[in-house]
Amino acid sequence: MTRLIFLGPPGAGKGTQAQLLSKTCQVPHISTGDILRGAVAVQSELGKKAEFYMSAGELVPDDLILDLIRERLAESDAADGWLLDGFPRTIPQANFLETLLEEIKQPCDFVVNLEVPDEVLVARLLSRGREDDQEEVVKNRLVVYRDRTQPLIDFYRNRQKLVSVDGNQPMESVTNDLKALVQA
Ligand code: AMP
Repeated sequence: MTRLIFLGPPGAGKGTQAQLLSKTCQVPHISTGDILRGAVAVQSELGKKAEFYMSAGELVPDDLILDLIRERLAESDAADGWLLDGFPRTIPQANFLETLLEEIKQPCDFVVNLEVPDEVLVARLLSRGREDDQEEVVKNRLVVYRDRTQPLIDFYRNRQKLVSVDGNQPMESVTNDLKALVQA
């Protein structure tokens, strides 16, 4: 049973690593970014509302995201574990998640903070070519990360949940560090 939260700036490799680890641990990789991009692609009500914020590199408002996470964690494939990628992204979201996980009796094992220097992040994001990876949007996503998401590092450190992993290594080395952590 593995329940992990992936924290870290955009471009740190959360999605890639969570995807790989989800196969090793056989638990679903739950990415709010992927769910939202899927909603935008099919132009659902959620997608239409989220698109505006995503294309500007802003966070989607909590009222669009909180029910979505509650419902996703209630699905049967998440009963035996999950890897959360991209959620929580703000202190209110972290408070919401803490209450929710207590309610459903699914405490997270720990929170992985993938550490990568800024200049590496910008280079990675600009080479990725996603729609929200244009230079101005990338810069804004980093600003939003510093303002809204970085405070979660202390939030989880205070709860003795934080584990930092050097994300500025070859992809396989990061994966090996993560596997060692979940198998420990
Ligand atoms: P990601 O793929 O995690 O980088 O997310 C892409 C975009 O989706 C972000 O820039 C936000 O606009 C939106 N998003 C993803 N997760 C969240 C979240 N937990 N809260 C608010 N917005 C989010």
